[in-house]
Order: sequence, then C-alpha cells, then structure tokens
Amino acid sequence: MAVCRYHPDRAAIGVCMRCRAVICAECCTRMDGVNHCHACLRTLGRRGEVQRGDNVMPNIAGTAVFGVAWLVLFGLAWWMQGWLAP
Ligand SMILES: [Zn+2]
Ligand SMILES: [Zn+2]
Repeated sequence: MAVCRYHPDRAAIGVCMRCRAVICAECCTRMDGVNHCHACLRTLGRRGEVQRGDNVMPNIAGTAVFGVAWLVLFGLAWWMQGWLAP
C-alpha cells in the first residue's frame, strides 16, 4: 500500500498533480478539481491569489446580474401593483 510522502504512517489517497508526490488525505488539498500537496500549495500561494482574483470577477458579475434581475422583478411587481391598485 502506498504511503504519504510526508506521513510514512498514513495511507496515500491521491497524487499531487504538480509534483506527483503521493499524499494522504491531510496533505491533499483539492484546488480547481486537482489534488495539490501542501508544498506545492505554498509555491502556488502567490499565483493562487492571482487565480482567486480571476475567479472573483465572474462571481461579482454573476451576483450583479442576479441583483439586477431581482431589481427588475421587484420593480415590475411594484409597478404592476401600483398600476392595478384603484
Ligand atoms: Zn506537490
Ligand atoms: Zn500526509
């Protein structure tokens, strides 16, 4: 049975996609659907912030679209209420 590169007493559950190190559940961090060991996470730290910055933009855009959609819906409902009221 394969053991973790960092924990010889623990069973490996995956392979780091970056350095191919065999790692256990505690060492394994899933990022963008890919396993990373903590050593690679550290080296990715600076780049990870940039990636996170890229990921924030679609989230903000999605939230903005969602908010505008709700505003339009509420505005329409409010307008309809005022229009239907005697
Ligand atoms: Zn690694
Ligand atoms: Zn480990």
